[in-house]
Amino acid sequence: MPAQSVVDESELMDVQESEWRALKEEGVLREALLQEKLDGGRVRCNVCQRRCSIPSGKAGYCMTRINLGGIVYTTIYGVISSAAADPIEKKPVFHYKPGSLCYSVGSLGCNFRCVFCQNWQISFADAVQPTVVSQYNFLPQDLIRSAQEAACEGVAWTYNEPGIWLEYTLDGARLAKDAGLYTVYVTNGYVTEEHLDMIGPYLDVYRVDIKSMSDSLYRELIRVPTAAGILEVAKRARQKWGMHLECVTNVIPTWNDSEDNLRQTARWIADNLGDATPWHVTRFFPYAKLQNLPPTPPAALEKAVEIGRQEGLKFVYLGNLATATGQNTYCYTDGTLSIERSGYRARIVAVTPDGKCPTDGTDLNLHL
Ligand code: SF4
Ligand SMILES: [Zn+2]
Repeated sequence: MPAQSVVDESELMDVQESEWRALKEEGVLREALLQEKLDGGRVRCNVCQRRCSIPSGKAGYCMTRINLGGIVYTTIYGVISSAAADPIEKKPVFHYKPGSLCYSVGSLGCNFRCVFCQNWQISFADAVQPTVVSQYNFLPQDLIRSAQEAACEGVAWTYNEPGIWLEYTLDGARLAKDAGLYTVYVTNGYVTEEHLDMIGPYLDVYRVDIKSMSDSLYRELIRVPTAAGILEVAKRARQKWGMHLECVTNVIPTWNDSEDNLRQTARWIADNLGDATPWHVTRFFPYAKLQNLPPTPPAALEKAVEIGRQEGLKFVYLGNLATATGQNTYCYTDGTLSIERSGYRARIVAVTPDGKCPTDGTDLNLHL
């Protein structure tokens, strides 16, 4: 993976240095992980694949990391924009602790610039505003206590991108494991290998978006030059760290809905993450700068499911579309209904405690 920035420096914003220095004295800022000193007070951030080279007095592309006098600090350590006890099915994660609640939190900022973003109020909120950031102080121990009080079995970093929040997710994940809770990243997958390897020992589930096999979608809709690094890190999460992976592809008319692209996506997942990796193909709704597109036709999603199965994937699910059976889990050998889902509710119908079909012993890649 190249250790080069993929950000044009003109895109990095100035920060209000004197206000931040005062907040640093109050302990609001945390020194960032994975920072590499460069010449002239610049620092390279190696938390995500943008690898911003941040001059002193500027913020990184995600607007959550600032360079004050040659040291980078995260501005969002205890900053929580949303928190809820969600069914894990809402992530969506279908094969890990089905039916459980996970305490889900999100912060501010993002390392993508998706023109179709549905969370822009959160993702592009200005995390470099001292007045905003200083209002929050939800420490990792508060996260664990809240999860336990809400009878959750796990915690999830979601809503905005956990890939820019390493200092907080790492401390939280360590405490979560100590407390017997499972841990989930809901991510766009643009973290670096170094980031993954830091959190790897403490992360159980990696729910990653694989938007397309085509670089043009990543380049033109998201302003990321290539999908290659995302795929490599997902493979590493599975192969090096043995995490449970689930993939989501939001099927966007004209952008990634061609048969060829969907076939390549499904094949890549089967070949690199395993054919029992759940693949969620979800319905796109027009939003923001993609208002001109129609919602994904249901028939196109059904076709994507068929393509996934033809390419060998054992568990392909429909998302953002109400259907009678599109979210159920069936044994792929004999068709036994294993888990029935309706909305975000899951009912375990026929699964052995070790995640197999009780009729014929087929391994369903289910962690109960
Ligand atoms: S985490 Fe933020 S500052 Fe660091 S490389 Fe990514 S976008 Fe840049
Ligand atoms: Zn079976």
